[in-house]
Amino acid sequence: MQTPGGWSAAIRVALRVGLLLICAVPAHAEWVSRITDGIMGTRITVELWAEDRQKADEAIDAVLDEMRHIDETMSTYKPTSEISRVNARAADGRMRISKELFGLLTTAIEYSEITEGAFDITYASVGYLYDFRKHVHPDEAAISKALPAVNYRHVLLDRGNQTVRFTQKGVRIDLGGIAKGYAVDRGIEILKARGFTRAYVGAGGDSRIVGDRFGKPWMVGIRDPSKGPGAVITSVPLVDAAISTSGDYERFFDEGGVRYHHIIDPRTGHSASKVRSATVIGPYATRTDGLSKTAFVLGPEKAMEIYNRIDDIDAIIVKLDGTVIYSKGLEPAR
Ligand code: ADP
Ligand code: MG
Repeated sequence: MQTPGGWSAAIRVALRVGLLLICAVPAHAEWVSRITDGIMGTRITVELWAEDRQKADEAIDAVLDEMRHIDETMSTYKPTSEISRVNARAADGRMRISKELFGLLTTAIEYSEITEGAFDITYASVGYLYDFRKHVHPDEAAISKALPAVNYRHVLLDRGNQTVRFTQKGVRIDLGGIAKGYAVDRGIEILKARGFTRAYVGAGGDSRIVGDRFGKPWMVGIRDPSKGPGAVITSVPLVDAAISTSGDYERFFDEGGVRYHHIIDPRTGHSASKVRSATVIGPYATRTDGLSKTAFVLGPEKAMEIYNRIDDIDAIIVKLDGTVIYSKGLEPAR
């Protein structure tokens, strides 16, 4: 990531690299982009700089195939997915799972530890009682009954045997808070392996960028939570970086003055509402995705303390009153 010295540093590096490269652009090279809806319930955007249109289209097909595969494996909406089978059976005993799912569960639990339990895939033990599309939320009695099953420590992983087990009935896991970031990282890996050196892959609120735009950084807009979808509160120039934004405006409904939205506080089982939005910038989208929920649960100050503690992570938080705060790495350049 090229942002540790702040945004201006990212721009300076990008400009220097770009001046050298403008002269080297081949005659028929072009930006190729594709936007696809419906995989992982979100919009996938792939954009890359290509010298050969056919190779670009094949590469984008490969990225989308990989995302479909991740969706098939990790979606709790699909009863046949590997994760749905884990949810149905892991309380009965050890279950052998794919290397890929094992790896992602391991990462998810690491993020629970880093975020002091704010990120917790067992949120789903209560989370499944909500349906934001149908405006359904559980009552207090239902939350109290389900809440003891929420705790990442209930998920036991055995690396040697590549198995997972839940310590008790009622535990459910959901990778909705990390799978898109993971899918973006896999997409970027596929493009890099095929030799692309300038590319953008985005899945909903999670994106990652390789390279620059010939002398310019990629500009990634951060939505203004108080306004409609097109309104941007600030834009971040990025080169070789991942960025994830979580917002309380993504999947929600309001009822009786309360906003019910899709980020759940694992300690209470209620929607976590301590900020309006949190954007995390870092080298990998799996990580930035895993970290962007934290601010909602822990609040802006505590979350910023955690973000600042991690060397290659930066963050921008929109507080409840609309003010914006920045991590240490972004402050000097403003
Ligand atoms: P998006 O789905 O648009 O990428 P986020 O990155 O903000 O949005 O992730 C929100 C999703 O994270 C929720 O829909 C849910 O699947 C999951 N989630 C909700 N609360 C938690 C939590 N406390 N820990 C981990 N994942 C969570
Ligand atoms: Mg996300």
